Amino acid sequence: MNRPRILIAGLGDTGLLTAIHLAKYADVVGISSKPGLVSGQELGMRLSRPHEWARDYWVSFDRYRRLDRVRTVHGTLTGVDLETRRVHLTGPDGIAATESYDVLVIATGVTNGFWRRPDLQSADQVAAAIAADHRRLAAAESVIVLGGGAAAVSSALNVATTWPGTRVDLYFPGERALPQHHGKVWSALSARLRNLGVGLHPGHRAVVPEGFGCDEITAGPVEWSTGQDASSADAVLWTIGRTTPNTTWLPDSLLDDRGFVVVDEYLRVPSAPGVYAIGDVAATDPLRTSARSRADGLLAHNIRADLDGRRAKRFTAAARRWGSVVGTQRDILEIFGPGGRAFRIPAWSRLQPFIVWRGIYGGVRKPAGQVLESSAIPVDRP
Ligand SMILES: Cc1cc2nc3c(=O)[nH]c(=O)nc-3n(C[C@H](O)[C@H](O)[C@H](O)COP(=O)(O)OP(=O)(O)OC[C@H]3O[C@@H](n4cnc5c(N)ncnc54)[C@H](O)[C@@H]3O)c2cc1C
Repeated sequence: MNRPRILIAGLGDTGLLTAIHLAKYADVVGISSKPGLVSGQELGMRLSRPHEWARDYWVSFDRYRRLDRVRTVHGTLTGVDLETRRVHLTGPDGIAATESYDVLVIATGVTNGFWRRPDLQSADQVAAAIAADHRRLAAAESVIVLGGGAAAVSSALNVATTWPGTRVDLYFPGERALPQHHGKVWSALSARLRNLGVGLHPGHRAVVPEGFGCDEITAGPVEWSTGQDASSADAVLWTIGRTTPNTTWLPDSLLDDRGFVVVDEYLRVPSAPGVYAIGDVAATDPLRTSARSRADGLLAHNIRADLDGRRAKRFTAAARRWGSVVGTQRDILEIFGPGGRAFRIPAWSRLQPFIVWRGIYGGVRKPAGQVLESSAIPVDRP
């Protein structure tokens, strides 16, 4: 085969990086329902400091130098024909189209709460949604954050830091939050939350109202299935880890019983030759860690190895969650390792272009204008 045609389904955190690795060796086509990277990472920063968040996590595709060779298609994937190796999609104009492939990489991620949605959006719609969530929290005098994962802890800490006058309460079902991280991570962050005056409420499991998809910020009372009296706030964040894989466009034969894509240890989909999966959609391990473990390089290697008849590499999953939990604080990025140790990188805004833009993405152009209009998002209150 001369230059194979590789189709990346979903250009989020992992699809984008996989496309970048393969662009030199193949004709790469990336299909995405967003017109750029809209990362699901660092929810707390996104809600409280959207300009700062957008600088790193909302980046139009034309700014990535190494995507110049990749054809990006804005559309929603609606189906795949594994026999003829074609995917079906619908573009922003509502017109159906197909794209053929030799190799298909499934990287469509998961839907999670109100901030990670697979809907087809224009750049203006992405910005409007970010602005609306920010304004909603800026206006709230009290905020309830539900859930014990990184998104919940990050939201509680960043809201409390950005708006010290806002009453913030974090409710989680277990004895501690961040149960999938090393215990030291919660010890460090719970102390910080207490210092900020955040109310910590273990042993609270919220009742999800009938028919509610946790897809918006609500107001008013929250009922507890754990027996406590209802609690109320101006804004309620449903960060309860209710994730759904974005796989309705795929046949059941590729999926496990929860709808995630079945892969082997080489990230191949065993039942479909030429098909691979990576990121939150791939059933690699119970925590589905291939995104944060940076398996994009390994996947690109394996695809090229399979095409050239060379040896593929095995993916090894991390046993615990690790990484940044609360984003940058006072320009310091803190990363917790799998053993719970914190590594702090100071002067992050100066180092970020070298470490992330150059080191991870191989060059990112400056935005032509403002990423988010200041008129849409008021400058953060001190
Ligand atoms: C460099 C890097 C650093 C990370 N650091 C951390 C960290 O510090 N801490 C941490 O907890 N985690 C970290 N992570 C992991 C992160 O939390 C998630 O696991 C990661 O965002 C998942 O990426 P994804 O590509 O699977 O999904 P997504 O980024 O959600 O991408 C999926 C994309 O597919 C699109 N899509 C969905 N359905 C369709 C469809 N039908 N048609 C077209 N497009 C569709 C979506 O709109 C989205 O754009 C990191 C990941 C990376 C790559």
